[in-house]
Amino acid sequence: MKDRSDYAGNIAEVLAGEHSAKVPYPIGLQEVEVLRVAPVGSALRRITFGGPDIARFHSHVADEHVRLIFPDANGVLRLPTLDGAMLDWGNPRPVSREYTVRRHSIADGELDIDFVIHPGGLASDWAASVTPGTKAHIAGPPGGVVIPQTYDDYLLAGDITALPAIARLLEHMPRDTTGWAFIEVAEPSEEIPLDPPAGVSVRWLHRGDLAPGTSDILEQAVREVKVTAGHRVHAWVAGEAGCLRGIRKFLRNDLGIGPKDSLIAGYWKRGVADFDREE
Ligand SMILES: Cc1cc2nc3c(=O)[nH]c(=O)nc-3n(C[C@H](O)[C@H](O)[C@H](O)COP(=O)(O)OP(=O)(O)OC[C@H]3O[C@@H](n4cnc5c(N)ncnc54)[C@H](O)[C@@H]3O)c2cc1C
Repeated sequence: MKDRSDYAGNIAEVLAGEHSAKVPYPIGLQEVEVLRVAPVGSALRRITFGGPDIARFHSHVADEHVRLIFPDANGVLRLPTLDGAMLDWGNPRPVSREYTVRRHSIADGELDIDFVIHPGGLASDWAASVTPGTKAHIAGPPGGVVIPQTYDDYLLAGDITALPAIARLLEHMPRDTTGWAFIEVAEPSEEIPLDPPAGVSVRWLHRGDLAPGTSDILEQAVREVKVTAGHRVHAWVAGEAGCLRGIRKFLRNDLGIGPKDSLIAGYWKRGVADFDREE
């Protein structure tokens, strides 16, 4: 899509249209400080960031992510440099991981990110042990998926890495929205309070002892969705890349939901560190 600087006009244009679209924003780099750390359910750790740079952080739609930047294997922190409305990541690229903007408050000068704590992850290990006062660098958001409110129904589905985005999407929906949300977690202790419109049914799916990214419980649940004849549905789906393949096929082939009416994003891939997002 067009000019990054006219993101407000581009957001308005997509909202007035029939299909969803990614709208790019000017991308910033912020040095932030950890203010607070708190559990959100038994699997997520919420880190609240603050500091003067939060004042120039901008956030416009529910589907937004940032990149947290980490020192490389030698302990050297390399940062991207500002190049107009973009960042130049250089070569080799600085080490980074993508996370959803769970909450941004201009009034409080705060930014929340909810981290899944899992074994063997650079970002996860950092989030599991970080304490207030620690500095961090955050790039983005580079943009977001803008979803018009003109669909008849909305389908959200994902694993726990998608839960921060699903929570934000649900709380931003107009209260007369209808649809379905399916969220895969290991067990009930991982469920968190949500604020869905009354017409959006939320189903928590318990994977049990299976390892993350190995269950088809999410696909089975999505396959039960029955769309009313003639209804236009928007689908937003994210999680482990391999688990999304069957869901993508079902949405495309059985429900006839095309790319302009959906976001289906592999947020991580089993056995792959720093997975490059797949759509
Ligand atoms: C747009 C976008 C938004 C995202 N938002 C969030 C978010 O808000 N919260 C969040 O927690 N994640 C989110 N993710 C997913 C997150 O970026 C990945 O899980 C990332 O790999 C975590 O980095 P890491 O350094 O902890 O692990 P890595 O170093 O990347 O991976 C190390 C190992 O851990 C495995 N692994 C990675 N993630 C998981 C997991 N969740 N469970 C089990 N094993 C895993 C990998 O397969 C690999 O074997 C998002 C991803 C994208 C693309």
